[in-house]
Amino acid sequence: MFSKILIANRGEIALRVLRACREMGIRTVAVHSTADADAMHVRLADEAICIGPPSSKDSYLNIPAILSAATLTGAEAIHPGYGFLAENADFAETVEAHGMTFIGPSPEHMRTMGDKISAKTTMQMLGVPLVPGSDGAVEDVATAKEVAAKICYPVLIKAAAGGGGRGMKVAQNEGEIENAWQMARAEARAAFGNDAVYIEKYLDKPRHVEIQVMGDGKGEVVYYGDRDCSLQRRHQKVLEEAGSPAVTPEERDEIGTIVANALAKMKYSGAGTIEFLYQDKQFCFIEMNTRLQVEHPVTEMVCNVDLVREQIMVAAGEKMSHRQEDIHVTGHAIECRINAENSDNFAPCPGLITIFHAPGGPGVRVDSAIYSGYKIPPYYDSMIGKLIVHAPTRPQAIARMQRALQECVVEGVDTLIPLHRKILASEEFQSGVYTIHTLEEFVERLS
Ligand code: ADP
Repeated sequence: MFSKILIANRGEIALRVLRACREMGIRTVAVHSTADADAMHVRLADEAICIGPPSSKDSYLNIPAILSAATLTGAEAIHPGYGFLAENADFAETVEAHGMTFIGPSPEHMRTMGDKISAKTTMQMLGVPLVPGSDGAVEDVATAKEVAAKICYPVLIKAAAGGGGRGMKVAQNEGEIENAWQMARAEARAAFGNDAVYIEKYLDKPRHVEIQVMGDGKGEVVYYGDRDCSLQRRHQKVLEEAGSPAVTPEERDEIGTIVANALAKMKYSGAGTIEFLYQDKQFCFIEMNTRLQVEHPVTEMVCNVDLVREQIMVAAGEKMSHRQEDIHVTGHAIECRINAENSDNFAPCPGLITIFHAPGGPGVRVDSAIYSGYKIPPYYDSMIGKLIVHAPTRPQAIARMQRALQECVVEGVDTLIPLHRKILASEEFQSGVYTIHTLEEFVERLS
């Protein structure tokens, strides 16, 4: 087992990784920008090294600085968290070239899944069901029209390198396709420096349901049930639950087995999430994320596992601590993302947190790096924490989350807590009957 791990991230996920390391008796190295000198992960780590100025590109994305910090401190492995360098295959390769372990999948698997076109081709070959669409990249408008006519409008033009909902445009009919195709390409080129696009059938009322997996890199892969992440704003997840209120245990096991078998054939290593759109009882693969996800705690709660611990174990060449038959989904879990944003207009709200009181009690978990007197820097993502609850049934989990949201106090900055209270109280959420459009419609009605 490693004796020292460098955590190449910040905020709640840096703390999450640090906690797993500490429980495993592994020493930790925090890296931070000058803007994060007072951050909780820096305070709690065994060692901390400043890697640059506030801008992410000069600090948390600064590969030479991170590698120097790792070499200087004698770290044996690097955990990338999520975001920043977590899905950067070149980074993973460079870490390994420096004789350290990258805690994540092989660079080859990261590359295959990082390109959504090769991800879809690979998954199809391995027997995973897809959203109907183009066979690979669509090079010109004439081909786009042909494909769209075949799969029927509306269609979605998507960037092969896409992420964060960027480079995605809907065309309702043939009249709209040229414009959508041009816009998706321009956005993809600007955001990712790669303007390859492909086409998918635009599903009108899907849910976003995803499967969490972990592989040991030797052909053993387990799945940990599903998560429903349909409640999104601008393609960004806001609230997640495990399991999906729409998916039966039989359907969950069926798709979980398909996914685990597919990834076992690849000899996948580490944590991964296979994302599907789910509509009319069909699962359609959209993409795979080759890292730990923000919403991993809901899975940890219902499956009683520590996914970061498992990531570290397999990266160190150890066995996972369980097999598929040991994993049972128990009860229901919900996560609310607490963003420092105004609940009405979603304007980011960095600044000083004058008072923070975390909720507690049975079945409540808070994953956050904030504290009273903490100043949220304006340079990074607005998510400042996650509130997670676990209870025997979904109605009990809803009641528990409502209770926890009542207890939670964050003063000095605006947060999404008022919005979460309204979502939890809504008929749409309580019924469990919602789609990827429900939250946008709900927010629209509130405004
Ligand atoms: P990104 O990597 O940018 O997040 P995804 O492919 O994961 O892109 O899609 C993000 C979200 O966009 C999905 O959760 C879903 O809400 C919506 N979406 C993606 N593909 C489709 C589709 N074919 N039909 C309808 N909605 C889609």
